[in-house]
Amino acid sequence: MQQGHASASDRRDFLRTAIAGGAALAAGRAALGHDRVPPAAPPAGAFRIVHMTDIHVQPELGAEAGLAAALAHAQRQKPDLIVTGGDSVMDVFEAKRGRAEELRALLLGTLKRECSVPLRHAVGNHDIFGWNKSRSGTSGTEADWGKRFACDMFGIERSYHSFDQGGWRFVCLDSVQPKGDGYTAYLDEAQHDWLVRLLAETPRTMPVCVVSHIPIMSLTTLTFGKPRGRDKVGEDNVITNGEMHTDATLLHDLFKRSGNVRLCLSGHIHLVDRCAIDGVTYICDGAVSGSWWKGPLQGIPEGFGVIDLRPDGTFDHRYEAYGWQARK
Ligand SMILES: [Zn+2]
Repeated sequence: MQQGHASASDRRDFLRTAIAGGAALAAGRAALGHDRVPPAAPPAGAFRIVHMTDIHVQPELGAEAGLAAALAHAQRQKPDLIVTGGDSVMDVFEAKRGRAEELRALLLGTLKRECSVPLRHAVGNHDIFGWNKSRSGTSGTEADWGKRFACDMFGIERSYHSFDQGGWRFVCLDSVQPKGDGYTAYLDEAQHDWLVRLLAETPRTMPVCVVSHIPIMSLTTLTFGKPRGRDKVGEDNVITNGEMHTDATLLHDLFKRSGNVRLCLSGHIHLVDRCAIDGVTYICDGAVSGSWWKGPLQGIPEGFGVIDLRPDGTFDHRYEAYGWQARK
């Protein structure tokens, strides 16, 4: 199959999956503890976004048809905007150039073909090309190396950016900083200074939605983290530097001071959690790919966030499964 174009059999598979998906959808809702059918359109006065994170599109496991199914279901929610939360491609961090270009073509081709809603993008670790030089075979001198590849793919000037819509200011942050052959999570100094200035310039009455790939605050990592086992009780809980922003305290203090940040959306963990602290709500929104297209992860099905934002800074959120059934 040529990359970026669904074959007829893929299309049939997609339709079959979409039909079979009804039962999975109900199961997914049950697993998440809610069973209400989402309203067909956002309530009057609200602005609806769909937050699709951790798509991890790839040629394997029917991921292209999965993304098409997710986009179809997302558009049935009648959003004004779809925001992707990073890790839109399976991985170009460690990929060779040919594979990286293949994944980019697959993502852009599917989005172009299957999505008619405006899109905005945040950058995730897997969208950064070649930072693991030994595995990707890069030198670091390539013109599109690293975050340039991600920015070009998403059509953005810089890996962090801001825009206003529906009376809200959206801030897409870049969580990912280099650490050896890998990464760690924080805002570098230039980005942090930019954010401080941006929030200071934003009226206190204008609600702000922050989107970061890696959560600024999230506790779901403790469900699979260390320590584990009766013999470890009494030791520190560990959230590693790649799992949650290491500058979380700095950022939360900044949000508290600025008084306009209402909502912070993230992905990366592929699990769903929500915590509200000092008037700021932090939501981690599962993954379009579930367990990297191998099924639900810890009972969380493949899905995305649907958020209705009102100009007064209040919002409603739900995690919406789209009924994907993993192909074995
Ligand atoms: Zn991911």
